[in-house]
Amino acid sequence: MTEPLFSAPSRGLVRVALPVPIDSLFDYRVPESQAANALPGHRVQVSFGGRPLVGLICERLPESAREAPERIGELASLDKVIDSSPVLSAEMMRMLRDAASEILCPVGIALTTALPRGSAPRVVRQLALSPRGERALRTGAVEGFARKVLSLLEGGPASPGSLARKVPQAQTMLHTLERDGLLMRVQQELAPSAKARSERTVSIAPGIDLAGICQGELARAPKQAELLRRIAQHGSVSVANLRADRPQNVNLLRALEKRGFVTLGVQAAPRDVLGPPVERDRPHELTADQAAALAKIVPAVRAGTRSTFLLHGVTGSGKTEVYLRAVREVLDLGKQALLLVPEITLTHQIVARLRARFGDGMAVLHSGLSQGERLEQWQRLRAGGTPIAVGARSALFAPLDNLGLIVIDEEHDSAYKNDEGFRYRAHDLAARLAKSAGCPVVLGSATPCLETRYAAQTSAIERLVLAERIGSLGLPRVEIVDMVRDRELATRGKRSCLTAPLRRAIGETLADGGQTILFLNRRGFSTQVYCFECGFGERCPHCEVSLVFHAAQQRLRCHYCDYGKPPSEKCGGCGQPGSALLGVGTERLEEETRTLFPAARIARLDRDTTQRRGATAEILAGLGSGEIDILIGTQMVAKGHDFPGVRLVGVVAADMGLHMPDFRAAERTFQLLTQVAGRAGRAKLSGRVILQTFVPDHYAIKPVIDHDYEAFYATELEFRRGLSYPPFGRVTQLIISGVDEAKTLQAARQLASGVGATPSKDWNPEAQISVENRAPSYEVLGPAPAPLSRLRDRYRFQILIKGSDTERVKAASARLASALTRLPRELRATLDVAPVSML
Ligand code: ADP
Ligand code: ZN
Repeated sequence: MTEPLFSAPSRGLVRVALPVPIDSLFDYRVPESQAANALPGHRVQVSFGGRPLVGLICERLPESAREAPERIGELASLDKVIDSSPVLSAEMMRMLRDAASEILCPVGIALTTALPRGSAPRVVRQLALSPRGERALRTGAVEGFARKVLSLLEGGPASPGSLARKVPQAQTMLHTLERDGLLMRVQQELAPSAKARSERTVSIAPGIDLAGICQGELARAPKQAELLRRIAQHGSVSVANLRADRPQNVNLLRALEKRGFVTLGVQAAPRDVLGPPVERDRPHELTADQAAALAKIVPAVRAGTRSTFLLHGVTGSGKTEVYLRAVREVLDLGKQALLLVPEITLTHQIVARLRARFGDGMAVLHSGLSQGERLEQWQRLRAGGTPIAVGARSALFAPLDNLGLIVIDEEHDSAYKNDEGFRYRAHDLAARLAKSAGCPVVLGSATPCLETRYAAQTSAIERLVLAERIGSLGLPRVEIVDMVRDRELATRGKRSCLTAPLRRAIGETLADGGQTILFLNRRGFSTQVYCFECGFGERCPHCEVSLVFHAAQQRLRCHYCDYGKPPSEKCGGCGQPGSALLGVGTERLEEETRTLFPAARIARLDRDTTQRRGATAEILAGLGSGEIDILIGTQMVAKGHDFPGVRLVGVVAADMGLHMPDFRAAERTFQLLTQVAGRAGRAKLSGRVILQTFVPDHYAIKPVIDHDYEAFYATELEFRRGLSYPPFGRVTQLIISGVDEAKTLQAARQLASGVGATPSKDWNPEAQISVENRAPSYEVLGPAPAPLSRLRDRYRFQILIKGSDTERVKAASARLASALTRLPRELRATLDVAPVSML
């Protein structure tokens, strides 16, 4: 494309947010033809550094304002305005800009993350055959791979990527072919990938005298008259429905339209995402705890108070009922309620409860919907009049202009943190939205995030407790079995994965015709150091996180501060030689279970068995229909499923999660085990939960027996305080990656020293480290290998800035962020000023 010599007359400037990692907005001229729609909140197509991008107009400046005319002349024009009405409100844009600057995210990345997906036309750059290329192909002037590439383009333009996929050798060749004029670049506009469904409708033409026409002009056409009356009765009727009733109706319609009695139109016809109708429910009489909680929430809803509540109650304690009552208040005020859930499966449950109470007037937004369906739901909300929205964290960007309440259910779930690009946490955006809308936020959980619970202690938020399960639903019986004491030797001197009490329980459950879930809390971390004979795992003496084994150097390393030491000859716990590394996998567990229970029908659910699409659903369906007696799985089985036939849940190694290199390892373990335990008890028959562990007295495991969150909280809080981890300090995580290990490490070192790196600590058998007060108020840890130290051929290093001096940590993080903009192009960096998962 060549630039025109004279720029077309323009109508002012717009400042545009673009999805690029530069913390700034970009100015474009508005061409005359696009002036009417070039308004804040509308999307635009622009060219940025030669690349076509979709951006968002944040501000419009009149031609005369600020900019000198010469500068305007230099600016590029925007190509096209996509929208005729805003996709983000002014408040939403302001809120996102504030949130982005708080977490050091480039403004354009934040704003474009909030745009509805798939509804803008996509402009792509592709390669096409030039006339010269066509000739070369015809005359046989090119051969080999070049010929192959050119002939692929005979069918039409294609992207460099797709060509390289078909002819791997093409990658290096494309450039040469383009330079030689055999290929040329073209811009192709592709239709939006998401399409909202609409239907043709017919309605009575305005100002028609129905009776007069039927007796007059249509007196001899009774069928047309009848159809006209029917349309008049309904106001607007779907053409497809009329055709389905009687095919002849189409001809009659045509005749009516010709006479000018009806007009054809198009109307949005969103697909049904709710499913079969649900029966209406009747609200329960509130328990005293529920009533007390609502006595705080309801006045806040009515008064539009910007307060946050923590609704703290075990599963089955009636939290959802409290949400429903609060939503009732919101609807009575004519306002809207937004309910967030972490998982798709949980969406279905809460949607069913809401429909049973309030009917179908709601929009649902989550990743289980197709792009088109999601767009339809979004459009419904924008059209107004939809009082309830339910969805995953991104539902926070939905067009709700009359918010009366935000609920975040299972608020402790790490799914509330967006882990790439705009690394926002739902809690923070919800608080900002609530502040601008003037409404309360309710956070619900049985095991609140430690920071949330602490905020309740310091009275930044108000904690409302639902102390007991409703009615006769008791909490399930949780038993803890000591793996050291109760295990028998299986083959080859190795101990069995299953203790005697758990084996007995599985046998009894099988005999009763019940189902068992065996749960192994383990991710794909083969480098985890964990002795499966005694449960011992080595930890960093400075950071108190688990060490990770690095096979290449044969060393254990801390992924926070890069402390390192050689692995011990013998396990530090049980003294067995060579058993210190690696735990047990689901495969070994399956094998052993099959040997022990040869007649049982056993299935496994983990990353290996669920590669195929739909495999997870199939396995879970098998459990639901009773075709599986024992299901063995990773945490994929822990969440969101209710299977009434499951009477026994066995957690094979309850402490395994404690050995993840994450300072939240204990919190995650307690939450997960409590969740697993809560799940068993939801069935009609009271469930049984057996936790096998090497550390039965650990503060993250023992309190699971009595569902005693407070006991866990008290201990964990002191641990965090001692090491200045949140909520007492801040942690900023920087991960820098590159293909060249040495270069990446060098850049990482430079970044770390720029913010005052703390010298790394290596193994010193003499050193005695005191546990008390060993965390300075500010330290820069690393570079150390990131928990995933190598990912897709890139070496990854991690730098942590941590300390109780939060202002200093913040300032250093900001310095890092600005240094990152000068990073060599082949290196990538991600900065998270409030990481939730450190893995
Ligand atoms: P949670 O959201 O804490 O898991 P729910 O609100 O789903 O708890 O309540 C658990 C069960 O108890 C549900 O079946 C619900 O219908 C019922 N329930 C809730 N509140 C009451 C109440 N006040 N009286 C009787 N049953 C109730
Ligand atoms: Zn360390």
